[in-house]
Amino acid sequence: MTYMTDVVELTRQLVRMETINPPGQEEECARWLSGFLRDIGFKAELIPFGPGRYNLVADLRGTGAGKLLAFSGHMDTVPLGRAAWNVDPFAGEIREGRLYGRGATDMKSGIAAFLVACIQSRDVIDASAGVRILLTGGEETGCDGARAIRERLPGYLDNVGALIVGEPTQNYPFVGHKGALWLRGAAQGIAAHGAMPEAGDNAIYKIVDAIDRLRKFALVHQHPLMGGASMNVGTVSGGLNVNSVPDAARFEVDLRTVPGMEHAKLRNELATLLGDDVQLSAFADVPPLETSETHPWLQRVFACCAPECGQIIPKVVPYSDGSVLVSDSSVPVVILGPGEPQTMHKTDEYCRVDRLYEGVRVYGRILHDWQDGSVNASGAPVFAVAN
Ligand SMILES: [Zn+2]
Repeated sequence: MTYMTDVVELTRQLVRMETINPPGQEEECARWLSGFLRDIGFKAELIPFGPGRYNLVADLRGTGAGKLLAFSGHMDTVPLGRAAWNVDPFAGEIREGRLYGRGATDMKSGIAAFLVACIQSRDVIDASAGVRILLTGGEETGCDGARAIRERLPGYLDNVGALIVGEPTQNYPFVGHKGALWLRGAAQGIAAHGAMPEAGDNAIYKIVDAIDRLRKFALVHQHPLMGGASMNVGTVSGGLNVNSVPDAARFEVDLRTVPGMEHAKLRNELATLLGDDVQLSAFADVPPLETSETHPWLQRVFACCAPECGQIIPKVVPYSDGSVLVSDSSVPVVILGPGEPQTMHKTDEYCRVDRLYEGVRVYGRILHDWQDGSVNASGAPVFAVAN
């Protein structure tokens, strides 16, 4: 059996398969990865969640006792954006140590680095309980794929002891992320001629009032690592022509939450605040995620990253879909991947070739540690408390 064992070539191969979301078309990439995973010894299962939409769940079981180490990543990417690219976004071109392409950093590089680490660490995986890989679609539009895994494969976390989310972090281990609650507010009115507004009921005025109330709503929760919760109204639409009273209007608001906030409670509070004139509905709902930095496995992960990152100070990332996969669970999670966070979602997205190799080494150490706790045994103190 021959398959790609070079992390650069594998990342380029994944970048060449377009998975822009929306519309989301993970099928080619998911099928290719499922074949690759089978070739390297995994049992792989495709889990469809819509036309052309796929997740992929794969296990490589070992003979050891204990639980599986899980890795999750998303196969979809954001669109290219309006600005022209200076490189072909789907060629996997390398210039001056940078591998360019949509998804190069977020997060096909993370998937490639973990798969190559698995190939290189095959013997230690065989001697451990094993590895489970959860590859999702639909992450960039609110984690639909991860939610489908939860619903259609309820046992996906059975026997999982820890989870790595391979989002771009420059191989630095992050301990959590804020939650995201995206709400749509819709108002109905009554159409009338623009010269006789008293005969109608203006839907735009209703959402303007609603947005004004939202802006005055205090999000008081604070978190020592994440800071405060936030709110941003991102879109507004309504009305068809200037000389009509609009009978429909809507807006969308993006709330980012911190541990201690309950999304259902927040939604109810906002619905009460806006009253009957505006109907609120959620179109993405991802709870905040946090693993205590004192968790023993995280301490060992910190030790695995220390050769590349030095002393680890606990930090959080803005967003990933890890929490959709583990929100009801006590499974510790680290967000850790080779991509460059500052190029995510941007024109000329790239990941660094040296960080790809570094990522394979970091993941490899975590796999070895999972089998025998070796990093823990040799661990020099690498942990510092944030101030
Ligand atoms: Zn991502």
